Amino acid sequence: MKFTPEKPALTGETLDTLTVRLKEAGEPAFRAGQIMTWVYKKRVTSWDAMTNLSKPLRAWLADTFDFMPAELVLNKHSEDVTDKLLLELRDKSLIETVIIRAPQDGVGLDHSRKTICISTQVGCAMGCVFCASGLAGLKRDLSAGEIVAQLLQVCRSEDARTPRARMELASFDNIVVMGMGEPLANYDALIRALTIVNAEWGLGFGARRITISTSGLVPKILQLAEEPLGFRLAISLHGATDAVREKIMPVNKAYPLAKLLPAVKVFSEQHGRMVTLEFILIEDINDSLEQAKLLRNIALDLHAHVNLIPYNTVEGLPWKRPSITRQERFADVLRAASISVTLRREKGHDIDAACGQLRLKTEKTRELSAV
Ligand code: SAH
Ligand code: SF4
Repeated sequence: MKFTPEKPALTGETLDTLTVRLKEAGEPAFRAGQIMTWVYKKRVTSWDAMTNLSKPLRAWLADTFDFMPAELVLNKHSEDVTDKLLLELRDKSLIETVIIRAPQDGVGLDHSRKTICISTQVGCAMGCVFCASGLAGLKRDLSAGEIVAQLLQVCRSEDARTPRARMELASFDNIVVMGMGEPLANYDALIRALTIVNAEWGLGFGARRITISTSGLVPKILQLAEEPLGFRLAISLHGATDAVREKIMPVNKAYPLAKLLPAVKVFSEQHGRMVTLEFILIEDINDSLEQAKLLRNIALDLHAHVNLIPYNTVEGLPWKRPSITRQERFADVLRAASISVTLRREKGHDIDAACGQLRLKTEKTRELSAV
């Protein structure tokens, strides 16, 4: 299940680890900072573009590191506001990274706020019954370098379209760790990657603009609460009682609500900011008014924001989204209690934006073309 690449990814190095490697090669420490500037600020795409490094050093770097461990194979532009990048890793695994644009009044899409959704695993072991990512189980964890590479690929594709690159800024406003995989099941690589993304010498991206979504791995939520970087947390709740949650999320057996909710409370008290409760609305599974009332009580107790997501149908799975009237009735129960609630009119349906779907389709096509 573990993949050991031929060379480590440059995007998985921190300033410290790169400095150590360079010292071994007889290079001064400041070279590490120069290389990071080329990678994360100037965002060059080849070693040879690092013109303040000697030719022998560039050759050594090329021998030692994989410059970009995730190659762009498909950039699927949606008719609405979502783009999807399909990336191929060194072992031919596919992962996806989504760019969601929120248009602002009076300006074009290129100036809209951008949220990037990244993956942390190939597949997922958690087995939520409604989810495309978990259908084939877990293939493997992503390395820190592969996680960071997704963001760098987004920057590269956005750099070509927007003038922000010249300002040496990351070309997006928020990061959500809501793509394929359970981020807290790949904890060390996740934290290393986000540390690189956050660092001044890296993408310099604020921890408060990064949201990690989890299906509810309690010990890891408590560990995350202790991290010095204040990431935001979203919990995939999807059921307001154990009976409902257990039916659709096997993780609830190990971490039922009586364990999960106190851990979420610890996290939000530690951070002093609102946690988000995600609740996919699935017809006849969790969309009753009774569930809405219980969700309201949980949200009030945790002082949490609620994100209602109409279910995105997955080929081969029987689940459906409820009617708009039913969705609104559910949301009204929360609104009546003055809970901060969003009912997401989901974006990018036309390019299979729900997690895992683009990858599954491409893999199926590959299988077909292989026979
Ligand atoms: N594994 C993590 C993060 C990735 S999933 C987690 O579960 O939180 C990101 C979000 O997409 C989760 O809330 C997940 O439940 C939701 N999701 C999965 N399949 C979906 C679908 N078909 N329609 C709508 N949301 C879906
Ligand atoms: Fe994994 Fe999240 Fe999908 Fe559940 S919803 S199978 S945890 S990716």
